[in-house]
Amino acid sequence: MSAPVASTPRTEWTPLELPTAQQAFVRASGAAFESTDPATGDLVARVRASEPADVDAAVGAGRAAVRGAWRDDGALRARVLQRYAHALRERADELAELLTREQGKKLFEARVEILGAANHADYYAGQARSIHGRALPLGPGVHGVTLREPVGVVAVNTPWNWPLTLPTRSLAPALAAGNAVVVKPASLTPAITVAALAPLAADPELPEGIVSCVLGSGAVVGDALVKHPGVEMIAFTGESTTGVGVMRHAADRLKKVSLELGGKSPNIVFADAPMEKALAGAAAAAFSSTGQICTAGSRLLLERSIADEFLAKLAAKVDALRVGDGLDPSTDIAPVVSRSQQRSILDYIELGRKEGELVAGGRPLDGPEHAAGCYVPPAIVTGLAPDARLVQEEIFGPVLAVQVFDDDDEAIALANCTEFGLAAGLWTSDLNRAWRLGREVEAGTIWINTYNRFYTELEVGGVKQSGMGRQQGVVGLEEFTEVKSLNFDANPSLW
Ligand code: NAD
Repeated sequence: MSAPVASTPRTEWTPLELPTAQQAFVRASGAAFESTDPATGDLVARVRASEPADVDAAVGAGRAAVRGAWRDDGALRARVLQRYAHALRERADELAELLTREQGKKLFEARVEILGAANHADYYAGQARSIHGRALPLGPGVHGVTLREPVGVVAVNTPWNWPLTLPTRSLAPALAAGNAVVVKPASLTPAITVAALAPLAADPELPEGIVSCVLGSGAVVGDALVKHPGVEMIAFTGESTTGVGVMRHAADRLKKVSLELGGKSPNIVFADAPMEKALAGAAAAAFSSTGQICTAGSRLLLERSIADEFLAKLAAKVDALRVGDGLDPSTDIAPVVSRSQQRSILDYIELGRKEGELVAGGRPLDGPEHAAGCYVPPAIVTGLAPDARLVQEEIFGPVLAVQVFDDDDEAIALANCTEFGLAAGLWTSDLNRAWRLGREVEAGTIWINTYNRFYTELEVGGVKQSGMGRQQGVVGLEEFTEVKSLNFDANPSLW
């Protein structure tokens, strides 16, 4: 059973009213909607939803701004992104508190998120100055020159679990490459995205219209944005099924897409693994951010000879985790984002009792101290068949499915047995095995003797139903460009 809910040292909060006059980059003139605190149910912010005319205005402003100095001056784009990174770092404490209040995650994780976003902005500030093509001699007096040009107006649709890092991870390379962006944050977490982007949008050197934000539900505003004929590329992060729908709409006008979608990532522990590290790694992979990470190691694959002992130690660790308010520094497991998410995860835990055996956590937290919050106790389920729903479906909460294997081939087969292919972890001291499994496991990222370590320099992304395209790194920048070829002929001729 999980440790008691942590106590809550809360200061009073004055709900934000957005957009304000300082946030003219937010185009939202429709009905008000609210975001609430997952720990208490209190009002965090009241914002307006965007109307179709607002989406039109945001896209139109982007199209008007995207040519000229912005497209051709990498140093200008670098300065703007550097100042954005600086503003995030300067306001990290204030933004982290807003993020925790609106999304629920632990304050420590919120700070990591803000600083992670600053890192993306910094990295792509550097890249903005070194976007280049090639020059090729193609024959006597004939030269080809390739240019990497911006795509145009990019719609950035992002989910609620990392409401600042994820928009920034797309927006920073898109801006570095000279595009305009219209950001549509998740409707559960609009305030943190708007508050963090405000200094960027207000940058004195940023041409008006290059950064806009529209607010509201995915089904209405997100949909209107991705279908808008003026949008030339969609950088979508979210559920696989939503991503498939986005791609269908993109096909109507042959828009470029970058899709960062769901996952059900295997974390594979071999008997020769550094055991204490693997234990800590398995717990963190499954339960950090209350399991609401696309790359969560939500399937633990254990080699049979160590399975019982490993599982007993992991269950003891998980039972000792403190479930509580993200603002309380003693909290290990913060609330999930919403009541509907809470219900869905608790249903999966109930299903786990039927499909397998619950070996840790999973009991409802029904004390008065957590009645107002969206709390879910972390759970570990074992004895599951490979086709069990707990093995196959993304739960997006603190629920770990455990499977056991006898040899490398079975580990590979189990790792690859879902429709997802976002990430995987391997814990072993055998480098030959790590290399072989690194090649055979179907995933965009494989962590070896670590998990969920992200570096802006290193590409991430999914295969199978986990997405297409890559974010981060040099490839993450190239996604937001088109290659144009100029062909110069010194002796004008046809052929
Ligand atoms: P979601 O698909 O419901 O929504 C994502 C975003 O798209 C939100 O802004 C939403 O408002 C918008 N949206 C919803 N329907 C839309 C539509 N029809 N047209 C256009 N936009 C629409 O996802 P969610 O529940 O907010 O987030 C959780 C999901 O995100 C999980 O599946 C998780 O794995 C995934 N995710 C993936 C990554 C990654 O990098 N691969 C990162 C984080 C989260």
